[in-house]
Amino acid sequence: MTGYMLPDYLLNAQHYINGTDAPSSGDATIQILDPATGQHLATTPAGTTADLDAAVEAAHQTFRSGVWSKLSGRERSRVLIRAAELIRERADEIAEVESRDVGKPISLAGAVDVNTAADTYEYAASLAQHLDGAVRRTPLPAHAYTQREPLGVVATITPFNFPLILSTSKIAVALAAGNTVVHKPAEDTPLTALLMARLLTEAGVPDGVYNVVTGYGGDLGDHLTGHPKVNKVAFTGSTQTGAHVAAVAGQALRPITAELGGNAANIVFADADLEKAVETVISAFVFNTGQFCMGGPRLLVERSVYEQVLEALAGALPHVPFGDPRDPATVIGPLATRQQYDKVVQAVEQARDAGARVVTGGEPADLNGGYFYRPTILADVDNSADVVQQEVFGPVLTVQAFDSEQEAIELANSTDYGLASGVQTSNISRAHRVSDALEAGIVWVNGWGLLDPSMPFGGVKSSGWGRENGPEQLDAYTRTKSVIMALDPAPTNS
Ligand code: NAD
Repeated sequence: MTGYMLPDYLLNAQHYINGTDAPSSGDATIQILDPATGQHLATTPAGTTADLDAAVEAAHQTFRSGVWSKLSGRERSRVLIRAAELIRERADEIAEVESRDVGKPISLAGAVDVNTAADTYEYAASLAQHLDGAVRRTPLPAHAYTQREPLGVVATITPFNFPLILSTSKIAVALAAGNTVVHKPAEDTPLTALLMARLLTEAGVPDGVYNVVTGYGGDLGDHLTGHPKVNKVAFTGSTQTGAHVAAVAGQALRPITAELGGNAANIVFADADLEKAVETVISAFVFNTGQFCMGGPRLLVERSVYEQVLEALAGALPHVPFGDPRDPATVIGPLATRQQYDKVVQAVEQARDAGARVVTGGEPADLNGGYFYRPTILADVDNSADVVQQEVFGPVLTVQAFDSEQEAIELANSTDYGLASGVQTSNISRAHRVSDALEAGIVWVNGWGLLDPSMPFGGVKSSGWGRENGPEQLDAYTRTKSVIMALDPAPTNS
C-alpha cells in the first residue's frame, strides 16, 4: 500500500477496555518509534495499575456474565472464523501496521505474520468445537464423566518481535476455550494489538472479552501477574523476565505458561545437500532480522566441509536484499528497537575482542537513521564465548566446526536454551538419531522454520514451560471438572 498512513486511533492510541477506546488514568505516554528511520510513529499510554484494574474488572465481569464463556463452542467458533476472515480481508493494512511498528520487511509481515494470525484463528475455531470431556468406566455405582471448563481471566504478556503472531497464539485459544483476556503488549510494538481489539469486536467478540492495556512491563507486570482476578498468565519474552514473572505468578498461585529465549544450533553434516543447507542456514539466522526466538544463530559444521560452507555463506549473504522494510524485495530490515540494535553492536564487538573472525558484516549500516546492522558471520568462535552461549537476537551467525555426530550433539545441547534445533543431512537414520538427542522443543530436518498452528512449540531448559499451538495447548487454557453422579442400585425384584 503506497503512502499508507496510520489511522488516528493508532497515531494517538488509548487502551481498549470493554469494547471501546479507554483513556489512561495517568498522563504518561510512550513514543513509538519507526525502526526504519528512528522517527516518531505513534503515541500510546504508559498505562497505570488503575488502568489494569479497570481492564481486569471488565474481563472478570464479562467472564462471569457468561456472554462468551457460556456460549457453545460452535458459536464461539463462528466468531473466531469471522475474525480470521476479517484478518485476510485487511491483510494489507495489518501488514503495514506490523511492518512500521516492528521494522519488519513488508513482504514478511504479509506472508508470515498476517497469514499465520488468520490460520491460528481458524485452527482455534476448530478447537472450540472439540472441548470434549470423557466418560470413565469406573467400578463406582455412578455415571462418571469429565468436562473442560474455561479458567476465567487470562493475562497475556507478549514481546516486541512478533507482536501479532505471539499474541494471537495465546488469545485465539484462550477465546476458543471461553476465557476472557487482558493483554499487555510489548511497550515498543503495541499497535497490532490495538488494531486486533477493534477487529475482534467487529467479528462479534462481545465487549469486555478482549482488553488491551499498553505500557511498560516493569510498571504493570507484577500487578497484572499477581492480580487476584487473573486466573492464568501466558507470557512470552526473555528468559530473565520470564523467571521473574514465573516467581510472581508462583507466589500468587497462578498457573503460567512461559515461552522464553532461544539460541538454537543448526547442524550441517558433510553428507547434506550443501547448496540447500547454505540457503537454510541463511534464512534461519536472518529471518525477522535475527529477532526470532526459534532462529538458528549457532551454526555447527562438520569439519571436512567447514571452509567450503563458510565460503558459500560469505558469497551468498551479501546478495540477500537488506534495507528499507517498505521495499517488497527486502528480506533483512532494521532491528526493531534502539535497545536491540545496541545489544547487537555490543555482542559483536565483544566477540571480536574475544578472537572471533568476522567473515562478513560486523558493522552497522547508516541508512535513513534506522536501526540497521549488517548481517554478520563470526567464524572460529569458542563454545564458551558469550556470543555462543547467550542469545544475541540479531542477524548474527556464529560458526563452529565438529568432528563427530556425538560432538555435534554435545555442542548443540551445550547452552541453557532449548527452543529449536536443526539438522541438515541426507542420512535418514542420522536425522532420527540426532533429532532424538537434541534438547529442544522443535527440531527441523533439512529445512528451518516450518510452523503450523496444529504443531506445538515451546521450550525445554531455560526456554520455558508449556506448549503453544496444537490441541496440547488447550490444557493450559481449560481445567477439567469430574462429575460423578451416583446411580440408584438396580431394583432387587427385576
Ligand atoms: P522482554 O522479556 O523484555 O519483554 C517481554 C514482555 O514482558 C514485554 O511486554 C514487557 O513489557 C513485559 N515485561 C517486562 N518486565 C515485566 C515484568 N516485571 N512483569 C511482567 N511483564 C514484564 O522480552 P522482549 O525483549 O520483548 O522479547 C525478546 C525475548 O523474547 C527474547 O528473549 C526472545 O527469545 C523471546 N521470545 C520467545 C519466544 C518463544 O516463543 N519462546 C517468542 C518470541 C520471543
